[in-house]
Amino acid sequence: MAKPKTPVPVQKNEYYEIDITGLGHEGEGVGKVDGFTVFVPKALPGERVKAKITKVQKTYSYGRLIETLVSTPDREEPPCPIYHRCGGCQLQHLSYEAQLRHKRQTVVDALTRIGKLEGVTVHETLGMSDPWAYRNKAQVPLGEIDGRLAVGFYAPRTHEIIEMQGCGIQHPYNDEIVHTTKEILQDLGITHYDEQTHTGLVRHIIGRVGFNTGETMVVLVTNGRKIPQVETLVAKIRERIPHVVSIVQNVNKQQTNVIFGRETVTLWGSDTITDTIGDIKFDISARSFFQVNPVQTEVLYGKTLEYAQLDGSETVLDAYCGIGTISLFLAQKAKAVYGVEVVPEAIEDAKKNAALNGLENAHFEVGGAEVVIPRWHEEGVKADVIVVDPPRKGCEEELLAAIAEMKPERVVYVSCNPGTLARDLRYLEDHGFRTVEVQPVDMFPHTFHVECCVLLIRK
Ligand code: SAH
Repeated sequence: MAKPKTPVPVQKNEYYEIDITGLGHEGEGVGKVDGFTVFVPKALPGERVKAKITKVQKTYSYGRLIETLVSTPDREEPPCPIYHRCGGCQLQHLSYEAQLRHKRQTVVDALTRIGKLEGVTVHETLGMSDPWAYRNKAQVPLGEIDGRLAVGFYAPRTHEIIEMQGCGIQHPYNDEIVHTTKEILQDLGITHYDEQTHTGLVRHIIGRVGFNTGETMVVLVTNGRKIPQVETLVAKIRERIPHVVSIVQNVNKQQTNVIFGRETVTLWGSDTITDTIGDIKFDISARSFFQVNPVQTEVLYGKTLEYAQLDGSETVLDAYCGIGTISLFLAQKAKAVYGVEVVPEAIEDAKKNAALNGLENAHFEVGGAEVVIPRWHEEGVKADVIVVDPPRKGCEEELLAAIAEMKPERVVYVSCNPGTLARDLRYLEDHGFRTVEVQPVDMFPHTFHVECCVLLIRK
């Protein structure tokens, strides 16, 4: 006989008073009604709120914040006028100092609950002295509102454009690129792309800034190759946005959410912009991956270098190396660095950047880290330090097993997901390593994202 179902204590469209005790993965307030979890976006820990239940699942539910009955001193008025409609940020209503505290707590919770790790030092989150205007890349879709061309991000879980006049987390040059280019397109009568009908021309305006060089790039992603009055368009962009050194078109005719298409054409100027992280120079093309917060990237890589404790005699492996940013940063202080990355174009960029900086001791190979590093091990490569910086899903177990067998002195784990980080640290703890310290770094102020740099040593 089937067990009688325990009735869920909340009902859709009903109102409840809830004490908020924590923040969920995406910055939502979390509380309970008779032991049953309710996520309430925009509610904060320490608050008592009235919420209307909008969705009920088997083990949790969602509610809309109707009224804050008891508020917390951590609550702040979000400076952005469209914060409550735009999907870009999640934590502007929480003071910056509390955001940093919360991010550290997220890491502590993951390490204890998922990793079952004890006695690990988790430092205070390293935040920004000015947590605004930090992004070096803006990718903004175009649409139409009341017959006018509009730019803005999508509302959460929709493709409805929320028109914006400026974005507080963007470098001001990017705001200028997005809005001025939109005006020029509007003046020239160049059409915007419409997802529903798959007609119209310009899909996205993308701005990229080299923070340390002041160089900028404008990318127009178009649904088709021909841009009417392209020469006038280029002339007007150059005239009105003097910091632009590169104007690029990318053609994407697919019906897809992916922003970029395969074909990229330089309309004017350079194919790339240059930026620096520490003493290392990078050439960045329209589609290159480059960390979006260059100020905090330097902080994160500085920690990585500190934890690697290099004296110039070491062989270092850099798994998931992207365009070689960490590899090149460490190559300045190591005997040799070997980077591995699955995207071939990124490895092309990594090799170019090594040459650009005259770093002959950095070597790169295309492939899955979980395939290439075990092979290097079989070939007899000895590593003193292994750095990993995987995507959100964390490291493949084959890679962790190879690291355990290679027995480096130190492992430095750079992570953008505390959950998978904790899982992988547990594995390494069980296979000969000790987690010594964890440094959370705030790469994305006002969003729920938290980045960590972790030092492990061989037991
Ligand atoms: N360390 C780089 C990039 C980190 S992002 C930096 O700081 O800039 C993670 C990278 O892992 C991405 O470039 C992604 O393409 C790559 N990647 C994803 N799965 C991989 C795998 N199985 N093996 C190697 N690289 C992988």
